[in-house]
Amino acid sequence: MQIQLCEFCLKSGMLCNKCKTKVESGEVSTEYIEVAKILLGWENQFQFLQKVRLDNVLEAGGFLVLVVGKGDSAKFNAAPKLTRDLGDQFNKRVLVIESGVKDRQFLEDLFATQHIVTINIIWLPDGSTETRVVLQGRGNRRLSKKRLQALVNVAKTVRNMDLRVEYAY
Ligand SMILES: [Zn+2]
Repeated sequence: MQIQLCEFCLKSGMLCNKCKTKVESGEVSTEYIEVAKILLGWENQFQFLQKVRLDNVLEAGGFLVLVVGKGDSAKFNAAPKLTRDLGDQFNKRVLVIESGVKDRQFLEDLFATQHIVTINIIWLPDGSTETRVVLQGRGNRRLSKKRLQALVNVAKTVRNMDLRVEYAY
């Protein structure tokens, strides 16, 4: 797995100057260190981990959010046991998001179990924008209000994106 710290530093806890700077600046979170350690330990059991990149780990909206390399989220989503076991260790649900993708892809990862009907940008009078996402309501298992709010928080934390989510009837 490609990680933000040297593997030696991560495993030993004796950080070199480069790694120390990343930790002290907050670029690498304590959750990141914990998750990276666990995942490195699982590389034999889940071999796809050897080929993925872990960019960031953060907690938002009650989720443990893993920000991974482009093309890597599908690999994690194909291993539900891994994400479940990892989530259990933090008592959180795991959400895998790819870095460096377009808004549309980000939203599809965020609402992975839902069908997105439309996405549009709303310009507010103060010049800021809101991203409006319409999800298909019929024939779908809808997310609870609480879960939707949690995902809105994730979008804000991960991408600084203000979301307004609605269901189409
Ligand atoms: Zn290092």
